[in-house]
Amino acid sequence: MNCVEFEIQLAKLKSGANPGVEFLEHKSQCPKCMELASRADELYHFIADDAKKTVSPFLSTRIMAELDKKALEVHISIQKAWQIAAVSLALIAGFNLALFMDYRQSPTDADSVLSEYFFAGNAGMEIENNWLKLSTDEE
Ligand SMILES: [Zn+2]
Repeated sequence: MNCVEFEIQLAKLKSGANPGVEFLEHKSQCPKCMELASRADELYHFIADDAKKTVSPFLSTRIMAELDKKALEVHISIQKAWQIAAVSLALIAGFNLALFMDYRQSPTDADSVLSEYFFAGNAGMEIENNWLKLSTDEE
């Protein structure tokens, strides 16, 4: 038996089955195949031990609870996003309304009349003219 045949035989080997004389002979002569066989044994033992372990009967309940919690978190974050969007829209609407109101009030707004007056470039002249006009009107 060569190494390739050994590996094929090892892969086909069922737990507890007799591998045959040639297989055991090659295993005792070839260090590489001995290592391979012992690793396969370790793996089979690990799988067998793991299969024996009992799973908590509440495991599925715990998994489902965890999944529900995650779903709830997503739901809450979507709710928060909607709340933020609603507040943002309200703020934008309020701001636009304030601008609209300001625009409507602007002709009578004292501040805008004053700023228009002082940014006109000839503020001093107008004051003088108005004063002159007033003083001439009084006469
Ligand atoms: Zn070998």
